[in-house]
Amino acid sequence: MSNVNDQMYAAELNVDVGFRPWQEAQINHLMSAYQANTLPHALMLSGPLGVSKKHFAEQLAFLLLCASPTSGQACGHCKSCALCLAGNHPDWANIGPEASHKAIRVDTIRSMQQRLQQTAQQGGNKICIICPAENMNENAANALLKVLEEPPADTYFLLVVHQVSQILPTILSRSQRVNFALPSANLVHEWLSHDFDEADIQSAIERARGFPERVKSILLTTDALQFDNETVAELIVGKRSAYDFAAKMDLGGAVSFLDALLTLLTQQSSTSLAKSSDDLPIMQVMTEHQRHKIYKLALSAKQALAQNANLRLLMEVFLQDCTTIMVSPHD
Ligand SMILES: [Zn+2]
Repeated sequence: MSNVNDQMYAAELNVDVGFRPWQEAQINHLMSAYQANTLPHALMLSGPLGVSKKHFAEQLAFLLLCASPTSGQACGHCKSCALCLAGNHPDWANIGPEASHKAIRVDTIRSMQQRLQQTAQQGGNKICIICPAENMNENAANALLKVLEEPPADTYFLLVVHQVSQILPTILSRSQRVNFALPSANLVHEWLSHDFDEADIQSAIERARGFPERVKSILLTTDALQFDNETVAELIVGKRSAYDFAAKMDLGGAVSFLDALLTLLTQQSSTSLAKSSDDLPIMQVMTEHQRHKIYKLALSAKQALAQNANLRLLMEVFLQDCTTIMVSPHD
């Protein structure tokens, strides 16, 4: 990801490709307009926080930049799609505040404007996502208004807005509103049912009061926080892929994994091995020396995490080191 400045950055398309099940009506409507050459240059994607509006904006950008989209989907293979997926499409600018409570400033809008005035480097459309657009201060909003009054050719502005009341009426009148309401629980189920258990989804929907992005983040956290002893043991002996594990780990998950491991190591040394040996044959064969080494490694990994180390790399290396210790019993 290349930073143009503090607040403007290149496309950031996550691997979660495709529109959400509750976004079908909106995308169909916009694509018919696009095919009829009537898609407005400025779209205001509005609705409450947590209904995947930003995701929609990114997927729409992906689709509008694709050189050969089929049935409302980016092909995923053309040069444009490859650039989007790599996070460095030259004709896609994302604008956001440095922190959620900070303003988007006029300088940022001006540098975006300069960049979008150039001809599209890939010869297709140009996209600018502003999220959340209500964070623009007055000067920034006025600068954007000037751009919207005479938009550069083949350029689409996607304004993601959580609170429409905070948007200048002049900007409102220059953009077409696309609204996203809270989806039904059924659609949220449909979206998540491939990856999570029905019962877990139901309880997360209740806790998140139905807001899909929050439902997913609860499920991901819960998933990561539940480390049974067997999973922990399999990870440190290399029976489970350290790479896969580290790839989906967030900070909370990594810390709770290390805590679970430290607890397990302490239990194993203080209780009679005979008791737990049926459950965890792997831990049973662990020597006192190995236990001690892994314990020390886990403690320093926890310290490194607290100092903002590269989480993924750290967990990968940590697990590989554990496995090395486990396969060399006599060192
Ligand atoms: Zn494509």
